Amino acid sequence: MLPKIHIHLKKYQENINYLTHLAHMYGLSVMVVSKVFCADQELINVINLTQVDMIADSKIRNLEKINTLKPKVLLRIPQLSEALDVVKYSDISLNSELDVIKELNEKAKFMFKKHKIILMFDLGDLREGIYYKDHYQHIIEDILSLEYIELYGIGTNLTCYGGVIPTVETLDKLRHIKENIENAFNIKLDMISGGNSSALPMLFKEELPKFITNLRMGEAFVLGRETAYGTLIPSMHDDVFTCEAEVIEIKDKPSLPEGELGMDAFGQKVQFEDKGMMKRAILGIGRQEVDCKHLIPPEGIEIIGCSSDHLIVSIIKGNYHIGDSITFKLTYGGILSLMTSPYMKRVYHE
Ligand SMILES: *Cc1c(COP(=O)(O)O)cnc(C)c1O
Repeated sequence: MLPKIHIHLKKYQENINYLTHLAHMYGLSVMVVSKVFCADQELINVINLTQVDMIADSKIRNLEKINTLKPKVLLRIPQLSEALDVVKYSDISLNSELDVIKELNEKAKFMFKKHKIILMFDLGDLREGIYYKDHYQHIIEDILSLEYIELYGIGTNLTCYGGVIPTVETLDKLRHIKENIENAFNIKLDMISGGNSSALPMLFKEELPKFITNLRMGEAFVLGRETAYGTLIPSMHDDVFTCEAEVIEIKDKPSLPEGELGMDAFGQKVQFEDKGMMKRAILGIGRQEVDCKHLIPPEGIEIIGCSSDHLIVSIIKGNYHIGDSITFKLTYGGILSLMTSPYMKRVYHE
């Protein structure tokens, strides 16, 4: 039944093998991030066959169900209320709040299990982490006094909210923090988790500072691209996931609506350009599955718009009939949305 999301397991495996090998050659460990596909176990099984070091997800509910022998990492800083599950279902968690870390310590004590944390620092992207200019010595001191918490390392996240691109200069702020902590407390931090898929251009140019020991990557593995500039990586696949939907109407219609114009179904006032009559098709998919801005049409098809359950396209070239299907490549947001929608049938290919 359509619509379907096609998942090409071999391409995913090849993408993981390619980058993991490269990162390992550079001396980096790799976390593969599974949140965009809701930790689908078929894809996890593929990950289990690779040399990637750890599996990371932002939801503890995903980590709970993941079947793997690889260490599990909770990416999103935990909710105070989920501390017990964090200790239960993850080996390492990324953190930025002392209150939560203390709660993790309590739960870890209760479970008689040591929990590793990576303390996050914000270098200016303005999402999670201790702001790098703030005082953090007392926080480190408190963390080191917790019996069931191991300060496994520090980390940072860039190009997620503020769009800050990793550079030697920006990452140097993290280097200072690492050196300050190691010198002040006479400890060695095992892991310096320096970024996500946006750090890849630096890796390719061999500019990634050597003090960084780990990368956490999701998008590069599913879309074969780095995320600082969005360039495709040669020899990687950009079509691990594709979306197939069915043509339910084909008609010649004008490009301008007729009559008095108000709002669309989502309360937006829409602008139209007069392109004369056009061959328009409707497909049986809509925003309840994915917003059409996340679909990349094949040659000869242009996306016009979408409502909750209809995708409207213009047929520029090609011979389509009712009942035919059209397959789209996807953006990151598209994969996220389609893998989260209960209406999509998942089809796995070797
Ligand atoms: C999602 C996420 C990543 C992965 O980012 P990509 O751009 O998909 O590589 C890494 N770290 C954190 C904290 C994240 O939330």
